[in-house]
Formats: sequence, structure tokens, C-alpha cells
Amino acid sequence: MELYNLTIHQLNEKLVKREITSSELTEIFLKRIEGVDGKIKAYLTITPEDALMQARDADKRLVSARDITLLTGIPISVKDIFCTKGIRTTCASKILNNFIPPYDAAVIKKLKDAGAIILGKNNMDEFAMGSSTENSAFFVTRNPWDTERVPGGSSGGSAASVAAGECAASIGTDTGGSIRQPASCCGIVGLKPTYGRVSRYGMIAFASSLDQAGPMTKDVMDCAIMLNIMAGYDPMDSTSIDTPVPDYTKALTGNIKGLRIGIPKEYFVEGLDDNVEKAVMGAVEVLKKQGASIVDISLPHTDYAIAVYYLVATAEASSNLARYDGVKYGCRAKDSKNLMDMYCKTRDEGFGAEVKRRIMLGTYSLSAGYYDAYYKKASQVRTLIKRDFEEAFKICDVIVTPTSPTPAFKIGEKTADPLTMYLSDIFTISCNLAGIPGISIPCGFTNDNLPIGLQILGRPLDEETVLRTAYAYEQAADWHKKRARL
Ligand code: GLN
Repeated sequence: MELYNLTIHQLNEKLVKREITSSELTEIFLKRIEGVDGKIKAYLTITPEDALMQARDADKRLVSARDITLLTGIPISVKDIFCTKGIRTTCASKILNNFIPPYDAAVIKKLKDAGAIILGKNNMDEFAMGSSTENSAFFVTRNPWDTERVPGGSSGGSAASVAAGECAASIGTDTGGSIRQPASCCGIVGLKPTYGRVSRYGMIAFASSLDQAGPMTKDVMDCAIMLNIMAGYDPMDSTSIDTPVPDYTKALTGNIKGLRIGIPKEYFVEGLDDNVEKAVMGAVEVLKKQGASIVDISLPHTDYAIAVYYLVATAEASSNLARYDGVKYGCRAKDSKNLMDMYCKTRDEGFGAEVKRRIMLGTYSLSAGYYDAYYKKASQVRTLIKRDFEEAFKICDVIVTPTSPTPAFKIGEKTADPLTMYLSDIFTISCNLAGIPGISIPCGFTNDNLPIGLQILGRPLDEETVLRTAYAYEQAADWHKKRARL
């Protein structure tokens, strides 16, 4: 296989054996980006000089064999929602077109300290609002499996860059599915950790009670390797959980004998694509053969998840996005008559249609007289959704579902109707509302050769069982070895 198609652990072996240097590897990925990114458009910003400088440092570390991790010298990409010191960070919005952060996000710092090489910043839906990357203010990213189709979203650039061999791995963020759904659309692995497991410091906020960063990788082992580095307590994030980080790679035993897998009846209903249903049920059979038992479960409040999410997320977004006023960050409109005019013009010119829609919805649901009816009610139903999972996890250890009701859709297919777009998150949103961990891994292909994703949800802070299940399936099924032809 081409070097750019290898996984982190495969590349690490080559780096440690000195079969290749990090500088050479970085050049290979930069060349790959040059070759295919014109077609895929996964990157908003490419940083070759910085990457090569980091690679030279990594090579020194590798030669001395001191202070190295499994990520030392490995070229990765990062979603443009993470602040990167000295490097433009736009969140795919015109309002942050010229924003150069003075500091690194906590996860960026951890990855850099581990010796990872950052190749550039990935395209995404503006402020992570969307499911197709079509809401980027700059351009659309294409799915490497079929360039007429979307890569999913909002971390679509990250997912596409991994699937197209434009990096060894990437990181994204997930507020309602934005790591798992694009991972599913692009045939890669994507994990949303437990809320609080990974620091949100320096990650541009969309909906603070739901946002969580996580790895997007070519296989489950890489996912565990990345999470080992990314996870951990951070006093700079008040919602960060202060518990030790286990070695997640140790969970990948391949043994799931006696594991109880819950199948929620509410997730296998009308609207689910036939190909997807077949692939997911096939995966359940594989898990059964490996010694897991199947438990039928119910998550009775599933029907309310989308409504609750679009109240909670928009309310939080309207408050988080109030900071973009042309004064503190980013762009400022020219030729305004007075301060109020400047605020209005800046926000009118700087935000795209979807972001404006969310700000308006959120401001409305938080306003006096409506707060109790909308935001408060939604928060109460959110608790019921969380309780559904608590009940379910009394009789099962993980829950298995499709990641998305359909494979990647055509570019432009859903842009006219925001509601149909919102519906593509139907299986991923509850996990964020409950704060639990969830992974998407490849579980097959449609007749048109489009990847299908399997979602595995776990108990809070039990990423280990989620990864163990994912790994056992992956080893038996082998879908992760398929690469998109470009
Ligand atoms: N697609 C969902 C939305 O538009 C989720 C986005 C996300 O997880 N960031 O809000």
C-alpha cells in the first residue's frame, strides 16, 4: 500500500525502524495534498513550512529515541475549529477570515507535544453547523468515494482528508454527530468521547454543553492511540473531568465474549436505507459469532431528540456567537454610521444563512416569555433522554445502531430544506444530549460502493468497552482496509 494510505501504527513502525524519516513522510503527504486536494478540497489552510519544521524536530527526537510517543513524526490534519497559534483559524466563517489565534487549543498543544506534525486546517460547516460541509463560507468538500457527494459534516474536511490519504489521521468536533456522521460517510473511524473527557479549551464554541473533540482515523487502533494523547483533565475547561486516562490501546483485546449488545427498536424504523439496515444487521451477526449476546432495548424518548437538540444547541449558539461583534475578534464591516450600525453590518456580512438561522432560533427560544416553553422544556426532556440510556445500560454494555440513516448524499440534495438536513443526525444526536461516548466504524458498502457506518455507544467514561467492541468487529470484518480510489 502507498505510504499515505497507511495507519499511524504502521507508519510509527517505519519511523522507529528508520525506514523513513518524518521529514520524508511529511513531504509525501504534502505531495499527496498537492495531487488530490484540488479535487477533494479538504483543507482551508495548508502549512508546509511549519509542518516541515515540526518534522525536523520529530526526526531529532526519533534519532535520540528519547521522549517519543506513537504519534512522534506522524503527519495529521485538524479541523479549522481548533485555535492554532500563529495560524489562521476561521471556523469556515467569513467573520473569522482574518483571525490568527495567539495560543494553541489544549488538544493542539497535546498533539504537538506528542510530536505530531500538523499539515493544515480542514474545511467544515461554518461554526460546525451542518451535516454536509456545504455550509462552509469558502467552498464545498467532496467525498473521496464519489466526488459528486458530500463528505458529511460538520467535520467533513477532516473525514475526507483521512479517506483521501491527505494525512495519517485528523481531529474533529462533535456537537450532534459531526465526527461520527462524516466518518460514516467517508468510510473511516470517528469517536466522540464522553463529555468532559477531552478539553474544550481553545476549541471555538458552538453549543458548550454538547461540544466534544475526538479522533478521526483509518482504524480503531489509531483511534485509541489518538485518544490516549487527547484525553485528560484540564483546569482551563471547567467541564473537564478529573479522572485518570487509561491506556486505551490495552482495551483492544479482540475478546468480546459475554458482552451484552443492546439494539434499540426506535433506531430501526422507516426512512432507514435498505443497504444501511442490511450492513448493520450483518455487523450484529458478526458480533454475535464472536460471543456477544443481543438484548432488545428501548430508548423511548428518541422521537424528541432532534427537537430538543435544535432548541438547546441553538440557544447555546446564540449566546456563544454574541462575541463576534467586529470589536473583539475577526472582521469588521466598513463604512458604518455608528456603533450599532457597525455591529449589525459586521454580523450581517460575516455570518452565513444557516448560522443566522440558528442565532435567530436560539435568541427566540431564550427570550422572556418563551424561555419556559422552549429552552426549559427542552432541558427537561434532555434529562429524560439521558435517563433512557441509564436504564438501557442496566441490561446491556454497549448499544449498536446505524450511524446515519443513509449513505453520503449528493451535493446540493438537501440544501434547499434545512429540516431534511437536520434529520440526517437522527441517530447521533441523543449521544451528545446524554454526554455518553460513541464511535462510528465502517461496516460495509452500498451497491454504489459508498461506505456505511456502524455506531457503538457506551456508558459515560467507558470508551474502553466501545473501543474493544469496535476493534473486535473490525478485526473480523476487515472493511477498514479498503481505500477510496482517486
Ligand atoms: N449536524 C448537526 C448540526 O448541524 C451537528 C453538528 C455538529 O455536531 N457540530 O448542528
